[in-house]
Amino acid sequence: MKTKALTELIRSAWCECPPPDQDNIIEHQCLECHRVRDDFRNKRPEDIPSEVLEYHSDSLPFFSANAKRYYYPAYLLHAISDVERRGDSNVTMFLLFDLGSDHRHDPDGGFTQNQIEAVLSFLNFVTEHDDLDDWSDEVELATSKWRALLQQSPAGNT
Ligand SMILES: [Zn+2]
Repeated sequence: MKTKALTELIRSAWCECPPPDQDNIIEHQCLECHRVRDDFRNKRPEDIPSEVLEYHSDSLPFFSANAKRYYYPAYLLHAISDVERRGDSNVTMFLLFDLGSDHRHDPDGGFTQNQIEAVLSFLNFVTEHDDLDDWSDEVELATSKWRALLQQSPAGNT
């Protein structure tokens, strides 16, 4: 899939995603988690600057499930541009680790089928652009997790 089509797929899959409760962006109280809260609170995914995403490349585990779902597009779109220019951003690496985990993949109401299919398309995109096969294990694991989520997703929940 071309970058533009994938970008559109992600934007449209998330366009109606409810924002997290602004008092429930993180699940833990410490300096690291507070930094996540302060950098993301009251912001839309498209408003998060690249430098902030790079700073928080390994912060996905700190988000609540609803906040993680809401901010995934910021990480996905950042990773797409990284993969496309054959970069090696930590954002891509930690996003792949997160997608391959079961960690807080249970936001209220779950992921929609369109969101899950967009994540699967992203994973396929990484494979298509992964000349060095750097990410094959991570992508394979994440693909199996998200295929399983697709099967659990109630029909009609698009
Ligand atoms: Zn913490």
